[in-house]
Amino acid sequence: MSEPVLTIVVPCYNEEEVLPETISQLKRLLTEMIGEKEISMKSRVLFVDDGSRDKTWEIIYRECIKKEHIGGIKLSRNVGHQNALLAGLSAAKEVSDCVVSIDADLQDDIGIIWNFIEKFKAGYEVVYGVRQNRDTDNFFKRATAEGFYKFMKKMGVDLIYNHADYRLMSRRAVEELERYEEANMFLRGIVPLIGFRSTSVFYDRMERVAGETKYPLKKMLAFALDGITSFSIFPIRLVLLVGCLSFIGSLVFGIYFLSLKFLGNTHTGWTSLITSLWLFGGLQLIGLGLVGEYVGKIYMETKRRPKYCIDIDTFNLAPEQSTKSFHVDKNDNLDK
Ligand code: UDP
Ligand code: MG
Repeated sequence: MSEPVLTIVVPCYNEEEVLPETISQLKRLLTEMIGEKEISMKSRVLFVDDGSRDKTWEIIYRECIKKEHIGGIKLSRNVGHQNALLAGLSAAKEVSDCVVSIDADLQDDIGIIWNFIEKFKAGYEVVYGVRQNRDTDNFFKRATAEGFYKFMKKMGVDLIYNHADYRLMSRRAVEELERYEEANMFLRGIVPLIGFRSTSVFYDRMERVAGETKYPLKKMLAFALDGITSFSIFPIRLVLLVGCLSFIGSLVFGIYFLSLKFLGNTHTGWTSLITSLWLFGGLQLIGLGLVGEYVGKIYMETKRRPKYCIDIDTFNLAPEQSTKSFHVDKNDNLDK
C-alpha cells in the first residue's frame, strides 16, 4: 500500500491565542511524517472555524494562502464543537484515507499521531486517543469529567473511558458515521457504535497552551445532558420506577394512617398533607420535565435541519476561488 493521505481536522472557536502555535506544531509534524514516508505528500491539516468572533479565521486564511498543507473551512456561525468537527470530517474524508480529529489547544499529545498511523496501517479503522493522566486538569474538571464517564456507563452508554474527540478514523468509518443522521451528534458515543476494528493509544494530557477553555460549566452540563438523553432512556424509566415506588409507599402509609384512625390517634393532618403535597408536586414536575426533554429531542430530530453551513472553503477550493464572500480582501494587510 502506498502511503495513506492523512487529514488532521481541528475545530477552532475563538482560538487566536493558541492557533499560531498549533499551526506551526502540526505543520512540523506533518512535514516530518511526510519526510519519513509515513503518510502521503497530499496530507493536510484542516482548520474549521466555528463562527469565531476573534481573529481565528484571519489566521487560518493567511496560512491557507501559503499552500503549505493547510486548508480552512469557515462555518457561517457557531454551531458547537461536535457539529464543527463533523463539518471537518465530512470535508476531509473526500480526499483522505484517514482522518485525525484533535482540539486546537494542544492539550492532546500530537506525537501519538505516529502511533495512530501505525495502527491504521495494521488494519484498525478507528483508533482512540485515551488520556492516561489528567494531572494538568484542575480538580474540578477532572472530577466532573471522570464522573461523567462513570455516570454514562451506569446509564448504559458505553463510552471509551477518558477518550474525548482525539481519534483516527478511516475514510470508511467516516462514511458510516455520516449515515447517522441524528441532529444531536454525540460523537464519542456514536463512533463506538460503528463497530469497525478499533484500538486505543494512550497519552498524557497536557495544559492548554494558551487561551481559555471553551467549555465553561454551563456548556459542559448541557453537553453531558445531551449525551445522556440522546443515548439512554434510563431517566424516563427512572421516573416510572419512582412512580411505582411512591405508589407502593402510599399504600403502606395508607394502611398506617387508617390504623391510626381506627385507634383513635388522628392528628389534624396538616403535616402529612403538606409534605406529600410538596413531595409529589416536585416529583411530578421532575417527571414532566424529563419527558419534556425527550419530547424536545424528538421535536429537534423531526426537523432534520442541516447541522452546519459552510461559508468559505479553502480546503477543497483554492483560496483564490473561495474569497468571494470573504470580508477581508486578499491584498489587505491582515495584521492591521
Ligand atoms: N470548540 C468549537 N466550538 C465551540 C466550542 C469549542 O469548535 O463552540 C472547539 C475549541 O476551539 C477546541 C475544542 O472545541 O478546539 C475543545 O474545546 P476546549 O479545549 O475549550 O474544551 P476542553 O478541552 O476545555 O474540554
Ligand atoms: Mg481543551
